[in-house]
Amino acid sequence: MLTVRRVAPADTLRLDLVALRVDSVLVGGRATAFARDSARIRILIPADAGDSLTVVVRYDGAPADGLIIRTDARGRWVAFGDNFAQRARYWIPSIDDPSDKATVTWTVRAPSDRRVVANGELVEEIPLATPGGVARTLTRWRESRPIPTYTMVIAAAPLAYVDLGRSACGRSDFGGCVRQTVYVEPEAVDGLPGPFAQAPAIMDFYTSLVAPFPYERLAHLQSRTRFGGMENATAIFYADRSVRERTLRPTTVAHEMAHQWFGDAVTETRFADLWLSEGFATYFAALWIQHAEGDSAFRDEMARTRLEVLHSPVTAQRPVRDTMETDYLALLNTNSYQKGAWTLHMLRTLLGDSAFFRGVRGYYVAHRHRNARSEDLRDALERASGEPLGWFFDQWLTRPGYPEVTTRWRYDRGSHRVTLYVEQGSRFGPFRFPLTVEVEEAGGGRHRVTVPVAAERSQRVVLPIQLNAPPRTIVYDPDVALLATFTAR
Ligand SMILES: [Zn+2]
Repeated sequence: MLTVRRVAPADTLRLDLVALRVDSVLVGGRATAFARDSARIRILIPADAGDSLTVVVRYDGAPADGLIIRTDARGRWVAFGDNFAQRARYWIPSIDDPSDKATVTWTVRAPSDRRVVANGELVEEIPLATPGGVARTLTRWRESRPIPTYTMVIAAAPLAYVDLGRSACGRSDFGGCVRQTVYVEPEAVDGLPGPFAQAPAIMDFYTSLVAPFPYERLAHLQSRTRFGGMENATAIFYADRSVRERTLRPTTVAHEMAHQWFGDAVTETRFADLWLSEGFATYFAALWIQHAEGDSAFRDEMARTRLEVLHSPVTAQRPVRDTMETDYLALLNTNSYQKGAWTLHMLRTLLGDSAFFRGVRGYYVAHRHRNARSEDLRDALERASGEPLGWFFDQWLTRPGYPEVTTRWRYDRGSHRVTLYVEQGSRFGPFRFPLTVEVEEAGGGRHRVTVPVAAERSQRVVLPIQLNAPPRTIVYDPDVALLATFTAR
C-alpha cells in the first residue's frame, strides 16, 4: 500500500514495477482501472479522489532483480534487497527515483528460522498459527523518516546478531543514544566485531562533526549485495564474502556510516549529482582515518585516492556532474567517489575548517530528509564563508580532468625573491587554485607559503618571502591539498 500525495494536476499515477503480475489496484479502497506494460503500472485516479491517496497494488511473482533470493554456502535460502540504482522497481511498486523519498513500513511473513531485518526500527515479531506446518513469524519494521527507494530493503536469512551497544548519547534525532547491531550468519558470529569494533567511535565522531544521527538505530548486515557495501538507510549491507573471509575494512564501515547522513538523509535529487553521496562518504571515511590515525595517515589516504583519480580514464573524459550518463551504475566511478572526495578536500583547504564544516552542517540541516543538488551545497558554503564559489564548482564539477602543472623558479639576488613560473597543460585547460609551496633554504630553514594561481596557461608568481641565497629545494603541495600533477623543470 502506498500513500501518495498529488502535487500537480494529474489524472494518472504512474508507478514503476517491472515484469511482476498485477492482480488489482485499489485507490481509496475502491477497485480502479489500470494499464500495465513491462515496466510500469498506469493507474487512473478518480476525479473525486482528493490529493492524498492510498493506493493498494496487489501483485505477484518472483522478482528477477532487486530482491535477491539465493541459497547460502550451506544450502539455506536467503533473501536480501539490493536496489541501487533503479532496481527497487523489480519488486516494489514505487516511484523509483531518488527525488521521491518516502517513509516505509515492512510487514514480512517468513519461516521462523529466518530472521527478518529491514529499515527503521523493529515494531513487532508475532508467531503465526501454523498448525502442523513450518513455524512462521510475522515481522514488522518501520522507518519513520523519508528515504530513497534505492535504500528500501529487507533481509530474510538465518542471522545471528551482536549488539555493539549504545553510542553518540544525546546526539540522536530520536533522543538518547544510537544503538548499533551487527547481523551475520550464525557461523560467522565467532570473533566479531572485527571491522565493526570502531563503529561506536565512528558514530560518536560523525554525530559530533556533522549532526545527530538521523534515524532510529543502525544495523550492519552480512548480505547478498553486488556492491562491497550498500548504505541502505539504517540497515547497511556488506558483501557476504568480505564478512566471511574477514576482508571487510573499517574504512568501508566508516564510508557506509557516513552515507546515513549523506546520501540517505540528504539525497541527491538526480543521479548526475551522485558525488553528493559517494564523494561525501569517501571523504568522511578519510576524515575518520584522520581522526583515528592522525594527519600522516590521512595524507597517505588522500595521496592514494589522488593517484586513482590521476590514472582514471573516466576522470580524463567526463565531468563529475555527468548529466549525459544514463547508465547510473556507471556513475559508481572515480569521479563520484575519489574526485568527489577531493572536491570536498579542496573546498576545506580553500575555506578553512571552520567555514567548511559550518557550511557542510548548514547544507545537511537544510536538506535533511529531502533532496539536494550541487548548487545547494555551493549556496551553503558561500553563506558560511562569504566567498563566491561558482567558479570553483564549475571548474571541478563540470569539466573533466585536473590541473597539469609544470613549474620552474628563479632566484633574484637583487630583490632576494623567488619567482615561480607556472604553466598549465592544454589537455584539460587552466584551473584556478591556491598553491602551497615549501621552500627550503640553503641553511636548512623552511618556509611554507600559499600563493594564488589564476586560470591562465602561463604565469609568474613572486613568492612573498625574502631569502639571502637561492633555495635548496621547493616542494609543491606538501600537504597533499591539490588534485593536480606537478612536473618541475
Ligand atoms: Zn558509497
